[in-house]
Amino acid sequence: MKIARVIVDVPTSQTNRLFDYTIPDKYQDVLTVGMRVIVPFGPRKIMGFVLDITSESKLNKLKNVQDVLDLTPVLTKELLDVGKWLAESTLCFYVSAFQAMLPQVLKAKYDKELWLLAEVEELSPQLESLFAGRGVIPYEEIQEHNVSYSAIQKAVKEGILEIHYQVNSKETKKTETYITNALEEMELEEKYATMPPQAKKQRQIIAFFLEHPGEIKQKELLHRLSTTRASLKPLLDKGVLQTIQREVYRDPYQDREYQPTTPFPLTEEQAAAIDPIHTSISNHTHETFLLHGVTGSGKTEVYLQSIQHVLDKGQEAIVLVPEIALTPQMVERFKGRFGSRVAVLHSALSKGEKFDEWRKVQRKEVQVVVGARSAIFAPFENLGIVIIDEEHESSYKQEDYPRYHARDVAIYRAKHHTCPVVLGSATPTLESYARAQKGVYTLLSLPKRMNNASMPQVERIDMREELHAGNRSMFSRDLFEKMEDRLQKGEQTVLFLNRRGYSTFVMCRDCGHVMECPHCDIALTYHRKSERLKCHYCSYEEAMPTECPSCESDSIRYFGTGTQKIEESLQQLLPEARIIRMDVDTTRRKGSHERLLTKFGNQEADILLGTQMIAKGLDFANVTLVGVLAADAMLHLPDFRSAEKTFQLLTQVSGRAGRHTLPGEVVIQSYTPEHYSIDLASQYDYEAFFLKEMKVRKMFQYPPYYFLTLITVSHGNHLYTMDVTQKMTQFLKEQLSEQSVVLGPSPSPLARIKDRYRYQTMIKYKNEPGLHKAMNRLFQLYEDQINQNDLQISVDFQPYQMM
Ligand code: ADP
Ligand code: ZN
Ligand code: ZN
Repeated sequence: MKIARVIVDVPTSQTNRLFDYTIPDKYQDVLTVGMRVIVPFGPRKIMGFVLDITSESKLNKLKNVQDVLDLTPVLTKELLDVGKWLAESTLCFYVSAFQAMLPQVLKAKYDKELWLLAEVEELSPQLESLFAGRGVIPYEEIQEHNVSYSAIQKAVKEGILEIHYQVNSKETKKTETYITNALEEMELEEKYATMPPQAKKQRQIIAFFLEHPGEIKQKELLHRLSTTRASLKPLLDKGVLQTIQREVYRDPYQDREYQPTTPFPLTEEQAAAIDPIHTSISNHTHETFLLHGVTGSGKTEVYLQSIQHVLDKGQEAIVLVPEIALTPQMVERFKGRFGSRVAVLHSALSKGEKFDEWRKVQRKEVQVVVGARSAIFAPFENLGIVIIDEEHESSYKQEDYPRYHARDVAIYRAKHHTCPVVLGSATPTLESYARAQKGVYTLLSLPKRMNNASMPQVERIDMREELHAGNRSMFSRDLFEKMEDRLQKGEQTVLFLNRRGYSTFVMCRDCGHVMECPHCDIALTYHRKSERLKCHYCSYEEAMPTECPSCESDSIRYFGTGTQKIEESLQQLLPEARIIRMDVDTTRRKGSHERLLTKFGNQEADILLGTQMIAKGLDFANVTLVGVLAADAMLHLPDFRSAEKTFQLLTQVSGRAGRHTLPGEVVIQSYTPEHYSIDLASQYDYEAFFLKEMKVRKMFQYPPYYFLTLITVSHGNHLYTMDVTQKMTQFLKEQLSEQSVVLGPSPSPLARIKDRYRYQTMIKYKNEPGLHKAMNRLFQLYEDQINQNDLQISVDFQPYQMM
């Protein structure tokens, strides 16, 4: 008897273990580890992942596996192991970890279909009767017809059949009709000869297939013979020709032509940096490299040539890029070098498109994946390198279950494959740089820009002085003059605004009352188009008030400045300037991001004004001025990394200027320009910033000197939330060793979200071996209240978002 050991899709602590099911005969040859099945669970039938297949069970009455969802495993053995490790190290349920590694399409219950790819003659009698002349049938019919799954599985492997997920009618436009001759050459010639001469078009079509036997896209055929479907149809009806549906991938990049690129001869610095990476690849050893290179120092070329080395060895590569930097420019560099061997995974793709890209990996049709965070789970089986560009980006940390950091997963997988990991950045996280200093990572440096181009000159402007001098505008006099100058010279300017600091909130000038979301404790944002106030955390919105709800004054109006407001005043100041604004509002539509950047790249605008999303990856030759409108906005977030984040951001932004032959200039406007993160960023002194910030971290006991664990409790009842957090804090103090510091309870910076109150407790520790055990006990203690009373307790062992 064969038994499947299954993790079921019921994310609770009681069900977070293996359940045994017998495998019916018909699935015995088919079912392997890593496939999804449907199993009976209590009164329900639910999905589960097969983790193991054995011949024994401790229980003697087992239920049967009901159905098999996959004919090829969706998770490799390695990824199953990664999932177990993820679940245990981040304290999430096994099933959540497995789900996180799969594309959306495989998580939901989509209808499946079997598609016939081959011609009917190639089918076994069994399959022929299953399809019964149809090209597509519902997947369930396999079971109804009692066709063996192994026969289906074999046909899928041979490319005769294919399983299709009905993702969404809008997205399933992904097949193309091909026409091919259905008759042998002799018969075809005979048809041609006996065809009446007035059937000119039909004869022409047959002649075509005599000349070019095989298949051709229907569209192309009709185009080449300048004919219509009407002349084709009789030939199809008579069985002279036949149609085949071929899948086309919904590749959003397929229509673009990529200019093939060849490797540059490396500079001396690049060669020195790539050498240890090549050695690690050649010797098949695991090592983590930290590639610290200023912007424009040629890091990407190092990545590309390392990947080439990996491909030459017949291995595969994963490249992670922050979501925000997954610009067409970035994608182009990888597609340009490796062409169709590259799959791209990012959130702008539809579910179906993502699934297509993922399947290319699964089928070994590509060897390189370029993608955002979750691309780290690409199901490669012969991984030769993992590259994480901009390794300091906080988007590599997932803020939801499982709360993993892509860097940790990368290193875990690379150990399994004994291959190198390359972390690249101009401003590495303090954690990574400290590890490199201790020799845990190998430090590689590219201290100079390509062709010895200098970093742009940075000028800091004190906005307090501007105000004293009577300048109430958003633009300092200096910045304004420089923008005018660029406009005259026909050069381009990038203006950067950190939207968080300049949110468009509504305030009463008389009494200071600020309009807030009644559910979230944050200021509402004024939307000019609709004249409404909206909450950015929940869906709450209301009309713009005409008088202050608190003092009834009519001096209530929006305050602060969003990109739209700046665009308006900029347009007034420089009426002849052509401005492109990039923020969440102007880039919501698919493809608009790319369109706006292309426009700017073609110099159809003089000024690019935008938020975070323009801080990275842009590379335009004609940009000679970068302005940062309020550098200190980020400094005042309730987050111990705010200085580090400010330094990183300013460095990134400055890197946008003068990347080519024209020299660049940067203007940083700030109310506290003397702060060390702004001061040292303006001097490009990473080393000094690192040393200074490390001192601060040590003094206040923060990472990388200490580990942090953040526990957030939330519930709809305020007192209850406080009470639970209080007791929990006490419990942790008792459980943990003396040297751990347990802070709290305190209200979260976002004290209420969607009518749930939020409190937190923070643990600081250097070495706390009992932490996971204590947390598990805590969850046991509150299990009933979590399951029955809607209490939420979340644990983050590596918090990046301190809200
Ligand atoms: P980074 O990734 O460090 O910001 P890039 O890889 O974008 O730097 O390199 C900056 C510029 O220098 C790019 O335009 C790139 O094409 C070019 N470049 C990189 N390496 C070389 C090289 N060895 N020879 C000539 N040009 C190079
Ligand atoms: Zn008021
Ligand atoms: Zn809200």
